[in-house]
Amino acid sequence: MLEQRKRLEVERRNNLDQIESLKKNDPFADPDHASDNAAVDTDVREQVGHDTIEAEIKDMKKRVEEIDNALKKINKNKYGYCERCKKPVLEARLKLIPEASFCIDCEKRLRK
Ligand SMILES: [Zn+2]
Repeated sequence: MLEQRKRLEVERRNNLDQIESLKKNDPFADPDHASDNAAVDTDVREQVGHDTIEAEIKDMKKRVEEIDNALKKINKNKYGYCERCKKPVLEARLKLIPEASFCIDCEKRLRK
């Protein structure tokens, strides 16, 4: 259990760091952006870059939420149980996805 908590905390920090560095790479975060009279193709490129970064940040924030949820479950001694069927989640699965909230069967069902 301690090992999983450590892993989750490391994952959480990594995700937060990545969110920060992504924000810095966002062309819209460039203070020169508003004042530059760049060509249209540059604007399009910046828009695409911005949208990609926004999407990545959104995914990472969701992951951080899942990690927080898993950490809360560790504190309540409920970690490692499927939130849907309440059965224990396979250890191999938790090793692969420490923040997994569902067992493989439920995950498959929920994705349908
Ligand atoms: Zn389940």
